[in-house]
Amino acid sequence: MNRIRRPLLTLVIALVAMLSSAPLCAQDNFETTQIADGVYQFRWIGHNAMFVTTDDGVVVFDPINVDAASVFATEIQRIAPGSPLAAIVYSHSDADHSTGAATLMDAMGQEGVPIIAHQNALAPIRARASADQPVPNATFSDELRWQIGGRWIELHYLGPSHTDNMVVPFIPDVGVAFAVDFVSLDRMGYQDLPGWIFPEFFDAVASLLDLPFETMVFGHGPTGDRAAIHRQITYYDDLTAAVRAAFSEGLTEDQAAQRVRLDQYSDWDSYEDWFPLNVRAVYRWVAEQAQAGQRLGSGSIISDH
Ligand SMILES: [Zn+2]
Repeated sequence: MNRIRRPLLTLVIALVAMLSSAPLCAQDNFETTQIADGVYQFRWIGHNAMFVTTDDGVVVFDPINVDAASVFATEIQRIAPGSPLAAIVYSHSDADHSTGAATLMDAMGQEGVPIIAHQNALAPIRARASADQPVPNATFSDELRWQIGGRWIELHYLGPSHTDNMVVPFIPDVGVAFAVDFVSLDRMGYQDLPGWIFPEFFDAVASLLDLPFETMVFGHGPTGDRAAIHRQITYYDDLTAAVRAAFSEGLTEDQAAQRVRLDQYSDWDSYEDWFPLNVRAVYRWVAEQAQAGQRLGSGSIISDH
């Protein structure tokens, strides 16, 4: 081999090495991002989970699903080699975030890892009776705090929001919280807000600000800060006011979905696709409230949301 070809060969080897690690990046299926000291976001396609490393093991918030869980285990072992799973927390009962716990344990070579959820998550998970979504063996009602491996883990229940069993984990030493589905960074609510419970939802979002977090990992999309939650609150206030106005003018649900616009949010994720569906969801709630008010012979039950 002559002098000219040797650097070329080296370059080719370097390129092959880059390409051989490329498929995972090219598919862009998953990504692990450090959020704070010992706190990581694990993204699987469009879903985010979070995990926290401690001196006594790793706490996982949402295994996501069976396909995600085996990759998730590899990522945990890469970030925290030799560290066992200490607990798995389900953010809520929906299968697209909280299946795969058994796969995760298997892949970590463990069994019997505690699974923690809100007490209201038990009924829908038991009803589903899926081996892929093991029933939680520890539940709580309002707040659960425990210390593990030198750091505190807090789980907060802020009332019904999206489902009646949404848990908001908070890691106080780094000011990181994790909120799934009911809030996000500059993004519409999902489609026609399936599982959203009004008006309690508004209180749950506002209650997030009672937690002294600085960084919020969301179940979908990029991480946010406290201002992101303020913007979510403003968005839902604006949405509700606009839909109430349309309802008062006598618009039907279809008309409201077509005509109500809040173009100050047009740069938010999924505005064109999901905003009309958000309008429909809030319209149905406003109409139900109005009907209930008529039945009671009073409009006074309409809350200030
Ligand atoms: Zn959900």
